[in-house]
Amino acid sequence: MERLKAYEGLPSAVAGSGKDPVNLPMIRHWCEAMGDTHPAYTGPDAMAPPTMLQAWTMGGLSGHTGRTEAYDELLTLLDEAGCTSVVATDCEQEYVRPLRPGDEVTFDTVIESVSERKTTKLGSGHFVTTRTDIRVGEDLAGTHRFRILKYAPVPQRETLPRPRPVVNRDNAGFWDGVRQHRLLIQRCTGCGTPRHPWLPGCNTCGGPDWDTVEASGEGTVYSYVVMHHPPFPAFTPPYAVALIELAEGVRMISNVVGVAHDKVRIGLPVRLEFQEYEDALVLPVFRAAPGRRPHETR
Ligand code: ZN
Repeated sequence: MERLKAYEGLPSAVAGSGKDPVNLPMIRHWCEAMGDTHPAYTGPDAMAPPTMLQAWTMGGLSGHTGRTEAYDELLTLLDEAGCTSVVATDCEQEYVRPLRPGDEVTFDTVIESVSERKTTKLGSGHFVTTRTDIRVGEDLAGTHRFRILKYAPVPQRETLPRPRPVVNRDNAGFWDGVRQHRLLIQRCTGCGTPRHPWLPGCNTCGGPDWDTVEASGEGTVYSYVVMHHPPFPAFTPPYAVALIELAEGVRMISNVVGVAHDKVRIGLPVRLEFQEYEDALVLPVFRAAPGRRPHETR
């Protein structure tokens, strides 16, 4: 632990520079990929979406500039301690000033912390957090904290518990509803557009205010895949994963129950149910309701 802690505060990138200046084509591609039509990101006074912060620092296949050896040494040390697997766990960003086309970013990354050994469902290991400060000239534009878990994988049991949903402050209301057996759809109070999954703002009008409507529970299978591979410990293949279109006009990914995986079809009418799993986990699922006529979509 002492050897690991010695890496805290060491730089993992010094005076790195963005491979391209902030530019409209990359902003446009990003917005198209995200489905973000907010007007602030187009036109002569365009700014970059704040969440693109990391994109301007990415090294691509040819690698980063400014990289030091400290981070690789730390990962090697963790490998030697048996923590040979890695998973990215989360990132946090702070936005200090907007980035606009033409801005040339530079960045410095520091190894901010190496945690004590922690036990997780994946295995025991150490969380490593890096912090990248992104600048334009002398001005701090934002910070990007990135956390990985380097861990020693545990041999997998026959069946693992079902993965639990990631609940955060944007979607907590949705999961509160599910626990009460209510499927709540966010609705923009500015323009009335319903949305799912839950988001902090409206992709149609940009409005931040919302209320909820409770789903009637009627839906149809909009699309589906049947999983054969790769095997996932909590599930026994083959099984169908469906994209359900709710009567209210939003779509969500869920399981179809009450019908064999090879009988799931596009247009199959389904009805909402709530299933209870181990450790008080409640999930919305959809039961095939073949007698019912598909609802008119929108
Ligand atoms: Zn709206």
